[in-house]
Amino acid sequence: MTESEAFLECRCGACRITLCDPTVRFHIECLCFDCRQRGLISASKNPGNSLPDAVANFERGVDLVYFANALTVDEASRELLEFSKLRADAFNTTMMSTCCGTLLCGTHPLYEGTTISVNTDSCLVTTSSNMSLQVVVFACDIPDEHAAPLVRRSTVPVIFSFSEEFESPAIKEFMSAVTAPVSASASATATTNFEKLCAAKPLTIDNAYFIESRAGKP
Ligand SMILES: [Zn+2]
Ligand SMILES: [Zn+2]
Repeated sequence: MTESEAFLECRCGACRITLCDPTVRFHIECLCFDCRQRGLISASKNPGNSLPDAVANFERGVDLVYFANALTVDEASRELLEFSKLRADAFNTTMMSTCCGTLLCGTHPLYEGTTISVNTDSCLVTTSSNMSLQVVVFACDIPDEHAAPLVRRSTVPVIFSFSEEFESPAIKEFMSAVTAPVSASASATATTNFEKLCAAKPLTIDNAYFIESRAGKP
């Protein structure tokens, strides 16, 4: 591996996505219902994919890092990509591997096409870049008895409602990071991006585990 080589890999190793910019743009933990639901869907695909205990028990959120949306993917890996939304009107689109049900990455319209999110609890990430956790979001989606101790323990800001705290410094930094343009060098080496890969495949709507993902806070 060269120093600058960075890639996402599924849990069985059959599917790999090369990141043309290895730099971690941002690092959050997300406690939202939908991240939990995606984790439960992935867990149903393969016995090794269960939620980490700390996530299952509301002790922390799903670990998410963000990268520039500039990618290269070989043909064998492209064959293994599946794209889905939880609901037809959902904002997030998720890229999953069909070989083993790994959550590889996702997009949201807020990122304006420049950024992908990567769930490091599911996807294996190789990069020389690193960023410490910046913020925990969507504490409104976990039971109050877990949210209170989580806030007390946390060394970074904990945001309850993303929309109500949109002007907070942590969210402003997040928005700035995930809307930053793709660098010229990454653009020059990229042969594809999330949207192009998605356009080549059918988009599945899979709302499995909706009830289970919300069962902690009905
Ligand atoms: Zn796999
Ligand atoms: Zn989330």
